Amino acid sequence: MASIFSRIAAGEIPSYKVAEDDKHFAFLDINPMAAGHTLVIPRREVDYLFDLTEEEYVSLMEFARKVALKLKKAIPCQRVGVAVLGMEVPHAHIHLVPLQTEADMDFRAPKQQISAEEMERIAAAIANA
Ligand code: 5GP
Repeated sequence: MASIFSRIAAGEIPSYKVAEDDKHFAFLDINPMAAGHTLVIPRREVDYLFDLTEEEYVSLMEFARKVALKLKKAIPCQRVGVAVLGMEVPHAHIHLVPLQTEADMDFRAPKQQISAEEMERIAAAIANA
């Protein structure tokens, strides 16, 4: 069965879409550490990031860079933090998190409560940046 992220990228499960192309998809994390916390995935379902081919890996990173530049325009921040964990969802993904301080990227901290309307607004702002 397809992973939850494959189903999101295919549009079978709704998401707050930020960007896409034929090989990649970016959408807001449903339990964000900070407003604008985005996940970037390859459409091809591979569990572990470093099991992507070299070409796929480089292409994913290039796509993530474009998303990060949009993210910084839409959500002014000191830096866009980048992380890879993959402890929960077995479909390679890169976390991009707008950081004001180091504490904004604490995976164990309580997550932000952001309304659906605000998530829509944030996703659109990043998409259109
Ligand atoms: P990780 O696999 O990197 O340890 O964590 C998975 C991340 O995906 C978590 O930050 C979690 O909030 C997010 N996530 C899990 N399921 C969904 C989902 O169905 N939709 C979205 N947008 N994010 C999800």
